[in-house]
Amino acid sequence: MDRTRLIFAGQLGDIFDDGGPMLLVEARSVFGRHRMHRAKAHVMLSAIRHRAAELGSRVEFHQVDTYAEVIDGRTDLEVIDPTSYEARSFVRSRPIEILPSRGFITTEAEFAVWAGGRKGRLLMEDFYRNTRVRTGLLMEGDAPAGGQWNYDHDNRKSPPKGAVTLGLPEPWWPVEDEIDAEVRVDLDRWQAEGLVDLVGQDEPRRFAVTGAEAQLALDDFVASRLNDFGPFEDATLTGDWTMAHSLLSVPMNLGVLDPRHVVDTVAAEYSAGRAPLASVEGFVRQVMGWRDYVWHLYWHLGEGYRHSNNFLGATVDLPREFVELDAASIEANCLHHAIDGVDRHGWAHHIQRLMIIGNWALQRGYDPVQLDRWFTDMFVDGTPWVMPANVIGMSQHADGGIVATKPYTSGGAYINKMSDHCGGCRFDPKVRLGPKACPFTAGYWAFLDRAAPKLAGNHRMAQPLAGLKRLSDREQVVHQEALRDGL
Ligand code: SF4
Repeated sequence: MDRTRLIFAGQLGDIFDDGGPMLLVEARSVFGRHRMHRAKAHVMLSAIRHRAAELGSRVEFHQVDTYAEVIDGRTDLEVIDPTSYEARSFVRSRPIEILPSRGFITTEAEFAVWAGGRKGRLLMEDFYRNTRVRTGLLMEGDAPAGGQWNYDHDNRKSPPKGAVTLGLPEPWWPVEDEIDAEVRVDLDRWQAEGLVDLVGQDEPRRFAVTGAEAQLALDDFVASRLNDFGPFEDATLTGDWTMAHSLLSVPMNLGVLDPRHVVDTVAAEYSAGRAPLASVEGFVRQVMGWRDYVWHLYWHLGEGYRHSNNFLGATVDLPREFVELDAASIEANCLHHAIDGVDRHGWAHHIQRLMIIGNWALQRGYDPVQLDRWFTDMFVDGTPWVMPANVIGMSQHADGGIVATKPYTSGGAYINKMSDHCGGCRFDPKVRLGPKACPFTAGYWAFLDRAAPKLAGNHRMAQPLAGLKRLSDREQVVHQEALRDGL
């Protein structure tokens, strides 16, 4: 007897389909567990319903309150191992045959072999190079293409001076259909009935949710933005919310776009002489390196990783402006635009997440568990597996150095270098004391002052901590930031 394959919301593409019967459940309770960005609920529901329509009579599609209503009592199911501890616990507590996970370039078995042979920290760079060698991607024989593994030094350009945008063509956008219209009606009704707690604006859907849409989005990225992706990867402009980013994390995390296909397509552009190696390598590093790495760390570090790490003792509750996505009263111009972007799109690009939102949260000591939850629920590409290593580890250093060797923090000068935000701000990135004191610049020193005892043994922090000791107005800056009210 053919088993029926249960598919979850991260498994909605052809790589999870081996041709047999399928079971797809839209469980409303998933959307009502926490406050969630409307755009995130929309892309998830739209993706599920589009997949149900694509599979037609090959799928049993149920729109119910809970998974258990449909699954309990069945003995004919199989599942590709799902993407969260909660879902794995659910399927393991029932008579369901479990198949190895898919949707990543390195399998869990391959990662286990690699990790098992190593002592000490599992470095992303080592993992990435190992994967390059194993797959042969961007390799010339035994050597990396172009002779270097890493082109980061070419990929840290400031935005063009005086530019409002990068001047690239408008990205490909999905055309909404009757399924999206139904999703909108349902979300309005659920919200009115108190079944969900949605925040964020209801803008047109901006992210691909089917395999066909994802291919169009990938083609568009390769044709219009890949060449500028690398150089401006770390830059941000007020008038350009997408910059040269791919906008492909949503379809990859929904399972409708195979990451191996993505990196093969991008690498082929370099081979054909149509894209510079620095951009191609930078992009492949993000997908084949970092994305796979955080997926594997999610399992490797264990279910308790999120909750058991608070190295810096950060306990401040998230402010109302974050919880309600209300940027109106945020005076720090860079943060205003980042939170406003999350409000409008349920998305902000990599450097806004890390250099602006994450940096702000680290400096103010926001609770890392709350922040992880916030990123998971407010971002269209937020999943339980993707955020912990990114937020708890990389961004907030709450794990004390498992993922990143030092806290990612900077003052306003670096934000000024990489953005156009400071010109329109009431603060001055060079000033750390007084009414014009930039909250990132002053916040940087106040953070170092607070975290110094914890960071004293970290040799990568020796220079910043020596700078803190020399700071003539250290006490006044710390006092000022302790009294700072509002964002
Ligand atoms: Fe952000 Fe400071 Fe620049 Fe204002 S001056 S935009 S707060 S970095």
